[in-house]
Order: sequence, then structure tokens, then C-alpha cells
Amino acid sequence: MQIVVPDEFKYLYVEDDEHPIVKIPAEVLRKPARAVAKIGKKHQALADNMLRIMRKAHGVGLAAPQVGVLERVVVVAPQGRAMVLVNPEIVKSEGDSIGEEGCLSIPGLYGDVQRAEFIEVRALDRKGREVEYEMEGMAARIVQHEIDHLDGVLFIDKVDLATLHWMHPYLDDPRAE
Ligand SMILES: [Zn+2]
Repeated sequence: MQIVVPDEFKYLYVEDDEHPIVKIPAEVLRKPARAVAKIGKKHQALADNMLRIMRKAHGVGLAAPQVGVLERVVVVAPQGRAMVLVNPEIVKSEGDSIGEEGCLSIPGLYGDVQRAEFIEVRALDRKGREVEYEMEGMAARIVQHEIDHLDGVLFIDKVDLATLHWMHPYLDDPRAE
């Protein structure tokens, strides 16, 4: 789907040192990211940088392609608790849930997306330790949204088109992913 950004929302699409998140239609957002073979200092620095950028943008999740890096690293902060997930994989999913999503790479646009209600995700943490989490609701939604980014998939590919709408984001809006 071709998204045309209305003039009054173009201010959200600035990319510079102050606003480092990559926005559509950047090609990097549509490419699959490669698995991290070995977690090193470079990846820890990447994760720390992503957490900083996510917080500054008042987001609850961010994937490495959104900062121009095609590696399988995401950060999420459901309920404010930050997690780094490297090579995340959903090993189990159950139930259906429809909820509104937005995306820091498509700022101002929101719409309903159907996701699994419960997931089990397996990943490596910031230090390369294997971790597994059970998540539901909002946390599960955020992780599914971020893992989609690693496959070049955006929420607009899955959105219920009838619900798609533009809205100026509030700084404390929890929906920006
Ligand atoms: Zn997103």
C-alpha cells in the first residue's frame, strides 16, 4: 500500500541527528534483517542506542531496521520495563486480539491490527544469554509488531483499512511502536 503523508503531518517525517528514526518509504524498512551470529560490544552499543532513541521518541518498541541497521535486534518497553531481544522468535502463539497500533517509522498514522493475544518468545538478551518470555495483550502486540519489522513487514500491511486514520501524536501516547 502506498501511503501519502498529508502536508500537515510532514513535520513528523523529518530525519536528522535529532530525529534519527528512519521513516517510510525508506527501503531499509522493507528488507529482511539478518540474524546476529555473535553478540559483541557493537550489538550492546546498538541496543543501548535504540533504547535511548525509543525513549526519546516516547515509543514502546523499536527494531534495528528503524535505525538503519539490518540485524535482528529489537527493544521493547511494555509498561516501561525495557527489554532487549536479539534474534527473537515466536515459538508459540494463541488467541486473537484486535488493537490499535502506530509506528515510529510511520508517525501520525494509526489503525487496528489483529495479533495473537498470547505469545512465547525466545531470544538472546543484551549479554547473549538465552531468554524466554510469555507475554499477553499489549506486550505481546508490541513484540509481534517489532519482529515483523525484522522481516520487512509494517503494520500497514496487516491493518484493517477501514480503521486507518491520521492523528497528531501526543507525547505520552503509548501506541507508538
Ligand atoms: Zn513500527
